[in-house]
Amino acid sequence: MKQAVQVAEAQDIVLDAVAPLGAEKVSLLDALHRVSARHVNASRDIPLGDNSAMDGYAVRHADVAGSSSQKPAILDVLEILPAGKAPQHPITPGTAIKIMTGAPLPAGADTVVQIEHTNADDARVAVYEAPPMTSNLRRRGEDIHAGECVLPQHTPLRPAELGVLASVGQAQVWVYQRPRVAILATGDEIADPGDPNNSDKILNSNSYTLAGQVAEAGGVPVLLGVAPDRRDVIRERLASGLRADVLVTSGGVSVGQFDFVRECLNGLDLEVRFHTVAMRPGSPITFGLVRHVPVFSLPGNPVASMVTFELFVRPALLKMTGHRDLFRPCIEAALQDGFEKRSGVRTFLRGVLCQEGARPTVTTTGPQGSGILRSMSLANCLIDIPEAVERLSPGDAVSVMRL
Ligand code: AMP
Ligand code: MG
Repeated sequence: MKQAVQVAEAQDIVLDAVAPLGAEKVSLLDALHRVSARHVNASRDIPLGDNSAMDGYAVRHADVAGSSSQKPAILDVLEILPAGKAPQHPITPGTAIKIMTGAPLPAGADTVVQIEHTNADDARVAVYEAPPMTSNLRRRGEDIHAGECVLPQHTPLRPAELGVLASVGQAQVWVYQRPRVAILATGDEIADPGDPNNSDKILNSNSYTLAGQVAEAGGVPVLLGVAPDRRDVIRERLASGLRADVLVTSGGVSVGQFDFVRECLNGLDLEVRFHTVAMRPGSPITFGLVRHVPVFSLPGNPVASMVTFELFVRPALLKMTGHRDLFRPCIEAALQDGFEKRSGVRTFLRGVLCQEGARPTVTTTGPQGSGILRSMSLANCLIDIPEAVERLSPGDAVSVMRL
């Protein structure tokens, strides 16, 4: 195995190793942001039949053509037709039906005159202005035809898609399952914020950032707490994490004397796909499979853990949940500060993107140490600086990944 893989190569390796999970049927109210796992064809025309798009009068266009305020057309009103009722009469020459929005178009009518262009008493209506023929009608099937595909497989479900499904009578929808993602923090020096004896400890932030990132990517976080740097405990927690669909750990994966995560994963027969990526922050990241369960061992530094999740775990979870669009959109912006780095390492800076003005600009959030979590909290983007670049001057174009 090569010592360090490049970011793009590592992303390909991860995505090759994971596949969409199985499908489950959920109610529409539980389907927001899930991804369709089947095509859905409409079982009916929408609208079901011709109906009125306005409150007004259903008429024969021939009866009202040429009408004006000086010379209104006078028609007999046969009935008043609410939405949801069937008309009792056809329209015959010289007659009209008062019709509400959504009511079915009576036979013989070809146009609806909106109420604002009429004046009526109980029995008769004067039409002062004729709209073009077929105005104010909604035609059967003009929105959706029966049999037509209204939802292709792999479509993320937004409110509009839920509405389309409801309108064709689907109260439930097949979606890809959400992966359960076990999250294990490690480190003798780490304690949970809720732990009463934590006053001299570094508080576990990674489990919470990772849980948030998992949920945002459509997964279900399963927190396994903090394991001390002891082989027996780590091994036991890793084994329990392997019951999930994905296992993510943070810390203990570097070359320190008490970094046992890699060794314990090897003991669980981890099939390693890479263990170092040429990037900053976050180069020591191990990815592999234990009996088909993808395992991501992320570095412990809070920023490194978030950035490596963003680059490797998030696309994997999106693929597993059925998405086809796996990466964030990138835009070009003018870097406001200068920057220097060594060649060969792809570098991600935390940035504030500003899109006012002719050209988007981006400024780093200040100190970029991989332990400075506030730099993530202040940022709205990652500035992606390619391997080959060594120096950037103010005003240089950079690629920015919006978070
Ligand atoms: P490690 O990768 O275990 O060497 O950890 C690198 C740095 O990240 C150390 O300073 C740790 O204290 C810190 N760290 C590790 N795990 C966490 C965590 N769960 N929350 C916050 N900081 C952590
Ligand atoms: Mg550690």
